[in-house]
Amino acid sequence: MSVDSVPVFPTRRQVIAEHKAHGGRVAAVFPVHHPRALWRAFGVLPVEVWGPPGTDTTLGDGHLQAYTCGIVRGGLSFVLSGQADDADLFVLPHACDSTQGLGSLLLDFVRPGKPILPFYVPRAEGPVAVEYLAREIGRLADKVATIVGSSPTDAELLEAVHVEEAADGRLRALHQARPRLPLSGREFYRVVRAREYLPPLAFVELAAEVLASAGDRADGRTPVIVSGMLPEPMELFDTLERVGLTAAGDDFTCTGRRLYHPGTGDDPWSRIAQSMLSGAPDATRGVSVQARIDHLLGLARATGAKAAIFHEVKFCEPEAYYLPQVRKALEAEGIRSIAVEVNPLEPLPDQVVTRLEALAETLA
Ligand code: SF4
Repeated sequence: MSVDSVPVFPTRRQVIAEHKAHGGRVAAVFPVHHPRALWRAFGVLPVEVWGPPGTDTTLGDGHLQAYTCGIVRGGLSFVLSGQADDADLFVLPHACDSTQGLGSLLLDFVRPGKPILPFYVPRAEGPVAVEYLAREIGRLADKVATIVGSSPTDAELLEAVHVEEAADGRLRALHQARPRLPLSGREFYRVVRAREYLPPLAFVELAAEVLASAGDRADGRTPVIVSGMLPEPMELFDTLERVGLTAAGDDFTCTGRRLYHPGTGDDPWSRIAQSMLSGAPDATRGVSVQARIDHLLGLARATGAKAAIFHEVKFCEPEAYYLPQVRKALEAEGIRSIAVEVNPLEPLPDQVVTRLEALAETLA
């Protein structure tokens, strides 16, 4: 499928303009996990900020230490340069020390003059974590209510939850159908990452159109797992395809680790919390090393992946912590791996291209 044959869907800027034209508010949401249904129930459009690629970081650099990752460096510069001026509020989930530092900077030093809402996702699993997170979402809702001037009823929130769960279901279906979709890696990620800003019903329609194009068989390239924080820079996929590999298993925090499952019950707060904690084991949630290993081995079995590519953001400590033990465990099961460092704001370095080419030769 050529780029032109991907269904046409609106850009971030178009969705924001449309929402604002109807008097709606926009939230700029930083990585990683956040309660989408909550924003919708308040009539707020959540638009995620992952960098973005190509951002000039000059304005942010003066506020940050040299070993800060590109996502935070780009995010701060994005705000300071006025490119996030359409946002009415900023949401800072605590993904890591760097995003916490970004929140502090925005709050204490470089206030963009708009509400900044820090948000804590628990580093735990099970009923206690769900209960804590449900209360944290309730605390967030109280703050949004003071900004918006009204609150949804529990029934309205539950309705928003069901709509988001339907969109998450389509997102999971897209990932499951990935090997049979006639899309390049770039095209696939352009579609699935529309979940970061498209209203849920629009995303469901887009996904249905893409899923209808699925064929019967995979493309014949050697399947590999791609892992890390986010699928940027996208030249990764161009290189993989050129050397005969395909990203069949997605373990990116931004995408594959956010394939949430629906919660249960009629309490919308608990239901959102259950769903947010249902994604694949994620470094930013402080999961065990064994959970990461088990997930990656399961992904390798499900996709037939022969290798894993850890496409890590430079200076990302949460991801780096897991790498030695995870790679050793994969190697013990016959799954080769390479770990490369990238800046998601910049083009793929030549040495990374060379290492991908070398990996492909060993798998041939
Ligand atoms: S790339 Fe790593 S260090 Fe940067 S925001 Fe994400 S988790 Fe934090």
